[in-house]
Formats: sequence, structure tokens, C-alpha cells
Amino acid sequence: TPFVITLDGPTASGKGAVAQVLAAHLGFAYLDSGALYRLIALIALRSGWKVNRELSTADEAHLVIWASNLDVSFVGEDIFLGEENVAQDIRDEEVGNMASKIAVCAWLRAALLDRQRAFAQGTGLVADGRDMGSVVFPDAPLKVFLTASAEVRAERRYKQLIAKGFSANMDNLVKDLNDRDARDMAREHAPLKPAQGAYVLDSSDLTLEQTVDVVLKLCAE
Ligand code: C5P
Repeated sequence: TPFVITLDGPTASGKGAVAQVLAAHLGFAYLDSGALYRLIALIALRSGWKVNRELSTADEAHLVIWASNLDVSFVGEDIFLGEENVAQDIRDEEVGNMASKIAVCAWLRAALLDRQRAFAQGTGLVADGRDMGSVVFPDAPLKVFLTASAEVRAERRYKQLIAKGFSANMDNLVKDLNDRDARDMAREHAPLKPAQGAYVLDSSDLTLEQTVDVVLKLCAE
């Protein structure tokens, strides 16, 4: 069975970067579960949904249909929705906010379970998200919960957005991060919190390399 490392934590905690370096180093597959929620969010936005929409039961049924029919392929850094490369589009903050709104839907979360578990192939997997250790891979031998202070996370997200060619505003970012974390932690289904047995790692004062090193040491234990 593949060795699964779960890497959960709040938004912009550095999970994505750590998970990718780790997966490359170990020769493991990589699951960016947030990308799945972002893809559904992108589809919803393109269908005319607004970020402040109150989800009706019919909306939730739509989310399940979109998730079940999701035609996505991850090719290196590229993410194809059908034939279209949307790797850049899904990084937009509006898409991230919409993703966090729809992620409260239990049916949607259930509809994405098998798709996520299918990534556990070959020697191993690094799974990045919010509920990787608690719900999707509860039996994973190594679970890490990565945190960082809100200031450090807002700064990281700011740099990431600028580097990708988006415009960004620090005050708005801090507010968005706080709103999103509050929503992720307060939701009834798969709330954001360290999984049972997870190693909680605060990366505020660590570089990417140092953070990866800590996880590699945990792997070796
Ligand atoms: O990690 P990322 O910022 O790309 O995730 C976008 C949103 O998707 C998160 O704010 C969270 O609400 C949701 N999400 C989730 N469960 C996951 C991954 C992401 O609910 N496993």
C-alpha cells in the first residue's frame, strides 16, 4: 500500500509548496485537494454564481453533479478542465473565496472522496488540504498540521499572487484569510482542525527547506 503523508492546515500556511517539494523529493504522487474545490468554484462562477450566494438544495445538487462529472487532469504544474488549462484561473482570490463557500456542502465533500483517494498510488502520496488526515486518509501513517501566524500567511499569499501576475492588497488579504479560516473551522462537516495523531508544525519562523526537513525527519521515525 502507498505511504500517505497528509498535510493539512489553514490557507496560505505553505502547505502547497511544502507538499510539492516533499513529493518530488520522495518520488511520491501529489494531491492538491484544494484545486478540486477551486475547480468546482470556477465552474460555479462561470455559471453566473456570485460569491455571496446562499446555497439552496438545488445548488447543492448542482455541486454534486459538477463534482461527479469533473473532467480534470493534473499534468505537472498544469491543471486541465477538459481541454482548457485553468491552472492560473483557479488561483484567483475570488475563486478561492468561492471554493471556501461551497466547501461547506457535505454532499460535495462526499462526491469528491473517491477521486481524492484514487491519488494514493505507487510508493506514496503527499496529500495537501484541510481534511486529508481527518476524513480522506484517516489511516495515513504520517499526518502533519502546518500552521503559521496570520501575518506571515498574508505575506506569503501576497507574494504568491504578485508572482503570478495578480494584483493584491494586504488589508483585503488579511481579512479574506481570517474569513476563510473562520468558515473552514466553523463548518459542520470536516472542519479545519488537526487530525487525531497529527504533528502540529508552526512554520512562521521556518523557511520552506527547514519545514520540508522537519517533515522528512518525521518520515524517518
Ligand atoms: O487550499 P486552497 O486554498 O486551494 O483551498 C481552497 C478552499 O477549498 C479552502 O479555503 C477550503 O475551504 C476548501 N478546501 C476544503 N477541503 C480541502 C481542501 C480545500 O474544504 N481538503
